[in-house]
Amino acid sequence: MQPTAPVPTAAVAAPRTVRKRVLIVNVFFDEYRRTTGSPYRVPQTMAPCFLAGAFSARACDLRIYNEQYSGVLRDAHLLAWPDMLVLTGLTSAYDRMLHLTAYARSLNPRVVVVAGGPGVRAMPGRSRRFFDYVCRGDIEELQSVAREAFGAAYIADEVFPRYDLLEGRRILGYVESSRNCNFSCSFCSLTAEGRGYTKYDLGYIERQILATGKKQIIFIDNNFYGNDRRFFLARLDLLRTLTRERRIEGWSALVTGDFFGRTENLELAREAGCKALFSGIESFDTEILLSYNKRHNTLVPQVEMIRNCLEAGILFTYGVMLDPATRRLADLRREIAFIVGTPGITMPAYFTLVIPLLGTPHFRDCLSKRLLLPNVRLRDLDGVTVTMHPRDPLDDVVRFARHLTSLRGYRRRVMRQVIGSLVHYRGKLTPLQLYSVALSGALICMETFATSPSSIWSRRPRQTFLAGTEVLDPQYTPMIRVAAAFEGHFRPTMVTDDSGALADDLAEDLSV
Ligand code: SF4
Repeated sequence: MQPTAPVPTAAVAAPRTVRKRVLIVNVFFDEYRRTTGSPYRVPQTMAPCFLAGAFSARACDLRIYNEQYSGVLRDAHLLAWPDMLVLTGLTSAYDRMLHLTAYARSLNPRVVVVAGGPGVRAMPGRSRRFFDYVCRGDIEELQSVAREAFGAAYIADEVFPRYDLLEGRRILGYVESSRNCNFSCSFCSLTAEGRGYTKYDLGYIERQILATGKKQIIFIDNNFYGNDRRFFLARLDLLRTLTRERRIEGWSALVTGDFFGRTENLELAREAGCKALFSGIESFDTEILLSYNKRHNTLVPQVEMIRNCLEAGILFTYGVMLDPATRRLADLRREIAFIVGTPGITMPAYFTLVIPLLGTPHFRDCLSKRLLLPNVRLRDLDGVTVTMHPRDPLDDVVRFARHLTSLRGYRRRVMRQVIGSLVHYRGKLTPLQLYSVALSGALICMETFATSPSSIWSRRPRQTFLAGTEVLDPQYTPMIRVAAAFEGHFRPTMVTDDSGALADDLAEDLSV
């Protein structure tokens, strides 16, 4: 009997997977209209790097771009390149997603555009008019999108951040050990989204840390402390071990105010290699914190919280929010004077106006009380632009906002306080931590110099700091010819109409 002739291999092999090109962009608008990027800003978003982990490296060519780090994406060849464009970014940068969509579709009509992020989650109805896929969930949803658009062969077996794709030379490794938050502050976009606090597996966290290849780790969790003590202690055990084995040199994280309510936590964190903590102080006024539903920040007085942290050998950084719609300017100035005049505390990393972020309880409250100014644009929700009717005359408040981010009028006191802290904590903080104390003073007084030194001499338009009149970024002018159908992509998304009511465009998603 003749042996059966072997079947040619090609006849039974699975059809070759055609590689797909995927470009993932973090869109960004700079509050000072800089276009060159801020590579020294800490922390940096890791969204593109984490989203890239959803795709199969075997079947996809992946490129990522972060406008916050690298500056405005102007490369038309890159925008013409992908089969799929994935967009993410802050709410105020939502319009930038529309710009890039217009470019990508003009250059390659077959491109699939996927969008996510807080703005998209707050406006799914409006977003469906512009993007092929509107993601309201997490990275795993991107896998569902890739499966539907390309097929199962194009998704990764395991979602894992693609640190190898990060641009530039970085000294910090960014890791995530949990998602979302167990609190519900009234102004926070996480509250609007209502997604529960979730934890990652400890082994997965360790692999992330080691995969960064960096000795200084920053946890980008919204709330590293969380509501699971056993999980918190387990992560400290892991970090203590990695520090002792010299696989990392230190780490920092964002914790909520309740972390400081247990005095042993600072010592446990320091022993485990913690070098810095960030906490959203928001205000030194208890009444204000309660009005934000931020009761967990009232467990320990703020000044005590900061000093305890620094005395324990851990750098403390924080942000402060000011709201001229509910507080008098004199009151806000008193709070700033208190901060720059209190010895033994660090300067905030930033001062911001309260932002009525879409879909939050605070936004709905502002809307129902008609507090929003007329003709507010989504782009105006950046924390430096006045967007609400203030209690004091508008001109005075706009002048206050103009000088707030650089603390004009307080700089001498800021420098005096920074020098005082450097002297006081000399033996308790490391040289790197002391350098950071000095840097936070420089950041607050000379924001441009500290985060984007390459752009200090670049010409930028004079800003008005008032919603509706603020100068738009140059990105609103198309950089290449786009089809007439995309002209609307370059018009700013309106939040309110000329009476201050919710703009028709957003009614479907955000009517109260
Ligand atoms: S504690 Fe922070 S992350 Fe959590 S809801 Fe409040 S502002 Fe958002």
